[in-house]
Amino acid sequence: MSAEDRTAEEDTSLELPAPTSEEADVEVEREGDAPEPAELDADTKARRDAALRHVRKFGDPVLRATALPVERFDDDLKVEVQRMGELMHDALGVGLAATQLGVLHRVLVYKAYVDDPVTALVNPVLEWTSDELELGDEGCLSLPGVHVEVERHAQLRVRARDETGKEVEVEAEGLEARVIQHEIDHLNGVLILDLISRDARKEAMRAMREAQESHEHRPADAT
Ligand code: ZN
Repeated sequence: MSAEDRTAEEDTSLELPAPTSEEADVEVEREGDAPEPAELDADTKARRDAALRHVRKFGDPVLRATALPVERFDDDLKVEVQRMGELMHDALGVGLAATQLGVLHRVLVYKAYVDDPVTALVNPVLEWTSDELELGDEGCLSLPGVHVEVERHAQLRVRARDETGKEVEVEAEGLEARVIQHEIDHLNGVLILDLISRDARKEAMRAMREAQESHEHRPADAT
């Protein structure tokens, strides 16, 4: 998810090391005052653009594929998880799923709050979700320019393994729960566009086209 919707920079977790850039589009967005992308310093923006080039965008069929369980917890997996965390960080995201990089592994990373470490969940299974639902803004690194309100379970418990194969159980709420649900959706080929009304989807598609056009026509981005 992108970090822009989060509250404060913390939500951006995946983002920059500097607490200031919350504007990441990664999956979930942060709420609060995330700076506009235009306000990013040149280095940050360059890193972000470079990272985003590795992220598959809407229209790529891999985003609709269902990822497969990881069976080998080897060094390759550790390298993959490490790379995912770095790209998420550089892209100013708060979460990233392997499918977004074209890898059909059930692996996600997230960092919902600035001070949190990056968490990797391999083969995540939602064991419990609250009946209580919450509306919140979300963006997605694979859907440039799109920010929509999505209803999610307010709390959840997920069981998974980490990149070493160790069993982990995470209880989450708020932004963390939102990011986890967003990324697990990616592993099942589900995008936030699927979770909103037809009218909201049309609006989102329009925003995505506009974001693409402005990107293509911005001379600064051509470098
Ligand atoms: Zn996403």
